[in-house]
Amino acid sequence: MKVKPMGPIPPGFEAENAMLLIGGRGVAALADEAGETPFFAYDGAMIRRRIAALRAAMPDAIGIHYAMKANPFPPLLALMRGLVDGFDIASSGELAAVLAAGMAPQEISFAGPGKTGRELEAALRAGVTINLESEGEAGRALAIADRIGVRPRLAVRGNPDFGLEGSGMRMGGGAKPFGIDAERAGALARQVIAAGADWRGWHIFAGSQALDAQAIIAAQAQTVALAARLSDEVGEVPPLVNLGGGFGVPYFAGDVPLDIAAIGAALGETLAARPDSMAGSAFALELGRYLVAEAGVYLTRVVDVKLSQGERFAVVDGGLHHQLAASGNFGTVVRRNYPLALANRFGEAAAEQPVTVVGCLCTPLDRLGDAVALPDIAPGDLVAIFMAGAYGASASPAAFLGHVPAPEMLIDEA
Ligand SMILES: *Cc1c(COP(=O)(O)O)cnc(C)c1O
Repeated sequence: MKVKPMGPIPPGFEAENAMLLIGGRGVAALADEAGETPFFAYDGAMIRRRIAALRAAMPDAIGIHYAMKANPFPPLLALMRGLVDGFDIASSGELAAVLAAGMAPQEISFAGPGKTGRELEAALRAGVTINLESEGEAGRALAIADRIGVRPRLAVRGNPDFGLEGSGMRMGGGAKPFGIDAERAGALARQVIAAGADWRGWHIFAGSQALDAQAIIAAQAQTVALAARLSDEVGEVPPLVNLGGGFGVPYFAGDVPLDIAAIGAALGETLAARPDSMAGSAFALELGRYLVAEAGVYLTRVVDVKLSQGERFAVVDGGLHHQLAASGNFGTVVRRNYPLALANRFGEAAAEQPVTVVGCLCTPLDRLGDAVALPDIAPGDLVAIFMAGAYGASASPAAFLGHVPAPEMLIDEA
């Protein structure tokens, strides 16, 4: 059995007496505090540092928005409220959560196809910006606004005529269910402005999970050019141009962190050269995983270690019902290993024989680490699965097989 590589453990994690620390606390103590394993732990200081570094790299004029579908844990939203300039939401459930976290409605925008009448009404009553995804949705939003007597805050989401190259999930460049094709976006904007809407500007999102700075730089330049073209067509300065995001994080062996300094420098030049039609506009990036993925760890305890035909399996009390992405069943074509470690023997040398870490679900899909190099593993050990701060708890089928959900905790001493 050959060892298969794992993704890189995110920088910034340390141990004390071989016990992994999260937010300065040993994970065994955190497990006691959680009262059970498995659980998710998020390091607030790491998120603060992440956003500070991002702000330092980006031009001053760029706002940072948090796409909260990456991690909607309420204490984390409350932390984010003080760190970002806006929230991007995609359902009325997220709307309720972000309002409960205390974000001002003017700093919230609502994207996503298939907004129901009830969701549009909730958003209009709350006074958040709706990023219109189609002509049909525009008609529904205007009619509801008329009926309830509010002036709707509307932006148009353009489906760009280009994609973000090398991104894990392309969301532009071709036929897409998101946004409205670039060649019809200007006409729709004119229509909603003529109907008396409070015009908020453009939302252009070209893709996700890109690690290639040059690809992001190219997409951002195209995004600014498209927004300029549309703004000229409409003849109104867009108050906000949401440039999308797409900043990726390293999950797998060989992935390298994104060069944000290069992106920030290029974006500064692009914005400095923008046409007069957007001279007075604000600009924002909307990021999910880039802000939070590395700050989260999923911790699960080894229940059993067994041999099958010479292969070693460690069975843990967690699984894909909590952390689907680590099993390779969330948006990846080929299963590869997330970074894993033995949290209570952090930094110890690996055993000679690799071990396959499987979850407790009765399905072969529940594989959390395939033939990974870990120290000699035993029941009771704590396995840390990194990169669990985004698309973890909320993006996993928690009800599958009837186990209880994993508790989440934010460790934030600040
Ligand atoms: C999902 C989504 C995001 C966040 O994507 P990340 O890859 O987590 O940064 C941002 N904007 C829109 C429109 C999205 O759908």
